[in-house]
Amino acid sequence: MSATPRLRFAPSPNGLLHRGHAYSALCNADIAARLGGELLLRIEDIDPVRSRPELVAAIRDDLAWLGIAFAGEIRRQSAHLADYAAARDRLAADGLAYPCFCSRGAIRAAAGEGAARDPDGAPLYPGTCRTLPPAEVRARIAGGEPHTWRLRMGRALARRPGPHAYAAFAPDGDRGTRSTGRGTCRDVAADPARWGDAVIARRDVPTSYHLSVVLDDAIQGITHVVRGRDLEAATDLHTLLQRLLGLPGPRYHHHGLILDAQGEKLAKSRASTPLAALRAAGMRAEDLRAELGFPPPVRAGLGGAGLREP
Ligand code: GLU
Repeated sequence: MSATPRLRFAPSPNGLLHRGHAYSALCNADIAARLGGELLLRIEDIDPVRSRPELVAAIRDDLAWLGIAFAGEIRRQSAHLADYAAARDRLAADGLAYPCFCSRGAIRAAAGEGAARDPDGAPLYPGTCRTLPPAEVRARIAGGEPHTWRLRMGRALARRPGPHAYAAFAPDGDRGTRSTGRGTCRDVAADPARWGDAVIARRDVPTSYHLSVVLDDAIQGITHVVRGRDLEAATDLHTLLQRLLGLPGPRYHHHGLILDAQGEKLAKSRASTPLAALRAAGMRAEDLRAELGFPPPVRAGLGGAGLREP
């Protein structure tokens, strides 16, 4: 771990930022300031269909409006696909990843109605392509058949037997409460097996969220990952991938989610009004920050995350 704590906010430019993103970004800025660390911005734009390049400028405008300053260069994942492909190929060469030709429908059918599900709710992969003869695999790839790459979970766990765990840190107080303390840390048991043979590289790009996030956190020297509780289960898989790839494991804090009036996560609800629309309607950044539990930004000349201890 580098001496300076380093955090990142890592939005996907699939849509405009809303209150949930603002809360996550503010948590990151707040904790970075408390730790005396720096906050980086990473654009997670591996999805060639859903990512919209024009949204990157909008994201930067929203974050600047919120009063959040970022250190260093912005990292755009789409510029690093070759690095992710190299990691995928390493896993494959180690016998830890295999090509999968199944469509979603085929997986649903093969898994059956009562199939066990992964933490995202998808049926656990029933293993159809895990044992295909190598000659068939070569022929299908040579014939241009689309395929994902899946982690060979059983072998991965045999190679890196558990118990698996990651370090979870809790800042002193959440929702923007101020504290000079450095928080607490504890080991949390991880159960990567609940993801089954997870997709580590998609059909259309040589990576997946899971693979690129662990690589980028390592490449960027991230020491503290602060993200929503909706990604808590993914950390189990990330912990295993880090061990397989020889990467350091950052500390994690999974913050609560901002819910709408119906108790739905904002990302999935129609009430997720974009920050740009709030701004256009005359809302001040101070008011949104206060609503989310954070004090007004400290702007001119302070640099860093722009927050100050009282
Ligand atoms: N790009 C992810 C998202 O927007 C966040 C990934 C992470 O923080 O690990 O939900």
